Amino acid sequence: MPEDRYASRNVLDEHALPLLVAVDAVVAGGGAAGVSAATNLARKGHRTLLIERYGFCGGGAVAGMSGTVCGLFLSSERHTNRPEQVVFGFADEFRARLASRGGLTEPQRYGKTWTVTHDPLVWRETADDFLTGAGVEILFHTQVVGVLRDGDTVRGLIVDTKSGLARIEARVVVDASGDADVVHRAGWATTRGRNGVMQNPTMIFRLGNVDVDRFLGYWGENTISPEHVVEALIAADNSGRYQLPRKKIWIFSTSRPNELLVNATRILGRDGRDLDVTDPADHTEAELVARHQVREYARFLKDRVPGCEDSFVNDTGVEVGIRQTRSVVGVKRLENADVVERRKHRDGVVRCPWPIELHSGAKPRVEWLLDDFYEIPYGTLVPETGENIIVAGRCLSAEHEALASARVTAQCFGYGHAAAVAADMVLRNAMRFRDVSGEDVRAALNAEGAGLD
Ligand SMILES: Cc1cc2nc3c(=O)[nH]c(=O)nc-3n(C[C@H](O)[C@H](O)[C@H](O)COP(=O)(O)OP(=O)(O)OC[C@H]3O[C@@H](n4cnc5c(N)ncnc54)[C@H](O)[C@@H]3O)c2cc1C
Repeated sequence: MPEDRYASRNVLDEHALPLLVAVDAVVAGGGAAGVSAATNLARKGHRTLLIERYGFCGGGAVAGMSGTVCGLFLSSERHTNRPEQVVFGFADEFRARLASRGGLTEPQRYGKTWTVTHDPLVWRETADDFLTGAGVEILFHTQVVGVLRDGDTVRGLIVDTKSGLARIEARVVVDASGDADVVHRAGWATTRGRNGVMQNPTMIFRLGNVDVDRFLGYWGENTISPEHVVEALIAADNSGRYQLPRKKIWIFSTSRPNELLVNATRILGRDGRDLDVTDPADHTEAELVARHQVREYARFLKDRVPGCEDSFVNDTGVEVGIRQTRSVVGVKRLENADVVERRKHRDGVVRCPWPIELHSGAKPRVEWLLDDFYEIPYGTLVPETGENIIVAGRCLSAEHEALASARVTAQCFGYGHAAAVAADMVLRNAMRFRDVSGEDVRAALNAEGAGLD
């Protein structure tokens, strides 16, 4: 395990560090889950601080330019031109605010379901609005590097800033880092994919100066590459003139004119090995390989795809997009069977209709959940070890394939909302997260528009 080369636990004398601030709640990470958790906590009157290592929120959706808000609509083989939305609450609130700012497309076909493409610049401004509107205190350019704790009880975080290290005290901590950084730095158990093999990263890019109508005439309305495109990719790769390791790719039109968003690359090590981006050497290799591969796919599109002849790469993700790193070991785990059997739970706090979309091996595997959804139980957000801490987002406790469904953006907004509701109960009633009833969380979420029943 590469992480064994690094110290996960604090090696600092935390008492020697200056106290920056003491708050009710601190949220580590400003991705979809963190923005939702912090906004909803502050709306309930708790003094809330959000810490984000970049200068903007959005995480995988913005820095990783994931591009679309997946997980809102049912999948179906019924011939319908109308998407059926089944996920509401904060995800729907954020969707509506993005749309009102002109930063969202109408639903587009994605295989047997639908998705909406967002503008990453509008996404981060929308997040700013939600956070500041709710009164959340924000520290950008601040990284969580340690945990304040007495035994198993979390008391706050240690952060690194441009001015040095400092302590933040908090009554509850929400680990929304995507990577379970807080749980890991506390030294508690996490898992990584299937026996350490995780889903491939992807560097997403945008292509400007495209004749989108001609492109759609060739490609079709479905954003997943049709058979004739897969064949063209195979032929181009086999010709030796391009390096195109992934043959099933997704392309979306965006809310901007003459632009496409391209989810095509499949990032492996130069020797073909799966990368583990919790290891900085692998993470660096992923960035280098990704930049090269973006140019290869852009060249293929320009040379071989109608409408793209005069195109150019106008943007890439700030970083290679990370689908999966650590998952916590929770008091409950989302099992693969929960997903494929579309199980509902009395303590279900988030709905998910998204397919298992597993980016591993030669082609992404997509397993549709037709005409139904499953629910994610509350206990998947509660780490098995540790008090005053809850996770929100893609680091929830889940089996490998289940996570390949449960990790998408609409659900991450939902986990953040659920974590905030549970944290409100912990703060008001001086109780432990593990003693909060998932059924009560569900009822409170319903009262706040989640539409779970
Ligand atoms: C290539 C790719 C394509 C995808 N495509 C789609 C798609 O089309 N539609 C969709 O809905 N989903 C898609 N996803 C999934 C989705 O984007 C993510 O799963 C989701 O955004 C995760 O949200 P999160 O809040 O859990 O975590 P993240 O988005 O990872 O957010 C974590 C945040 O915490 C910050 N952070 C991390 N560690 C620290 C630290 N130690 N200190 C301070 N800050 C920290 C990060 O900078 C980040 O802002 C895609 C993901 C990838 C990688």
